[in-house]
Amino acid sequence: MRQNLFADNYADRAAGFRPSPVRSVWDVSTAPGMISLAGGNPDLRGLPLGQLGAAAGRLVAEQGLDSLQYGAGAGLQELRVAVTELMAEAGIDADAEDVLITPGSQMGLELVTAMFCNPGDIILAEAPTYVGAISTFVGLEAEVMHVDCDDDGLIPEVLEARIERLRGEGRAIKFLYTIPNFNNPSGVRLTAERRERIARICSDAGIIIVEDDPYGLISFDEQAVPAIRSFDENVIYLGSMSKIFSPGIRVGWVVAPAEVRARLQLLSEAMVIHPSVLSQYLALEYLTKFDWRATLGRSIERYRERADALLNALETIDGVLPKGSSWTTPRGGFFVWATLPEGYSADDLFALAVEEKVVFISGSAFFADGSGERNLRFSFSLESPENIREGMERLARASRRLTSR
Ligand code: PMP
Repeated sequence: MRQNLFADNYADRAAGFRPSPVRSVWDVSTAPGMISLAGGNPDLRGLPLGQLGAAAGRLVAEQGLDSLQYGAGAGLQELRVAVTELMAEAGIDADAEDVLITPGSQMGLELVTAMFCNPGDIILAEAPTYVGAISTFVGLEAEVMHVDCDDDGLIPEVLEARIERLRGEGRAIKFLYTIPNFNNPSGVRLTAERRERIARICSDAGIIIVEDDPYGLISFDEQAVPAIRSFDENVIYLGSMSKIFSPGIRVGWVVAPAEVRARLQLLSEAMVIHPSVLSQYLALEYLTKFDWRATLGRSIERYRERADALLNALETIDGVLPKGSSWTTPRGGFFVWATLPEGYSADDLFALAVEEKVVFISGSAFFADGSGERNLRFSFSLESPENIREGMERLARASRRLTSR
């Protein structure tokens, strides 16, 4: 039966490959007149495109024999050095030998998961956590167990109790996956004190930490909080150019002890041979020859204004969410996370919101266990403060329709 050739032959794990909710709302969120608080795209409007174009042109015209050629499996050496310098600001003392450049940090996560997890192994993750990480973990047949968070991030006592209980049940916990800075989707930042405690808890329990940090530099406040990796050199750290420069170039990195990095590199070489050389050269140019901090500073100022507009709308627009709702107040990153009172469904609100021409992401995408039905993620990274206000007025109309049914 020719038509069943593929359907009958998918690997069991293919059932775990699910569409990303961000991508699935893409069509509605780009419909004419829609205000989108859904996607987590960085605002690239401040980038010096003319100068970048000239740099890219030079990279091809003057360095094409290198930049268009196959490259090193670990990535461009100068870029590996440049990212270690970047990470030093978060207290990370890494050597270029510990760095593997990857096509985005998503790929780093895939490599680390494939390297450490057997089917059925447990990965601990924040409740809620990044939807793309859940896809990777589920796709590689690991089981995700969530650990509760509060406004200071992951709760160490809950983590400890969870580890003890799972170990008591004889379960294999492979790693703790955490987004300590401005978590996607909750926007919450883990306190420095908790970082140290969590590093200790995991190290005592012999559990690897995978620290995913694309938003660390997108902070509205001056004071930096040290990375978890700064407390323990065994922490695997994932970095990315996506939010500080460009997601389209697909450049990220993994930091791991050199012998682990070497094994991850073998897997990376088997999967992609090496990350794009041209992209890496462009990332290197950006980090070393551009005043990217000033550019990023201006972007952060815009993100802060937009976050303020969103939070202000939540506080001041009557009935913007059903009475009794709560939300986080992020000091960086791209997201605000809201919780509706008992009895309400974010999916129901979403359907009405689309009719009112505003979109967000329903919370259940950010849990592996199907919970989150009363949660919503708002992204403030792309729309202007005026559009955010207007979007929230529209949301209030949707909320009123929901509460009056
Ligand atoms: N981790 C988190 C927490 C993210 O939010 C994202 C992107 N939205 C990624 C990883 C993937 O980033 P990259 O573009 O570097 O693959």
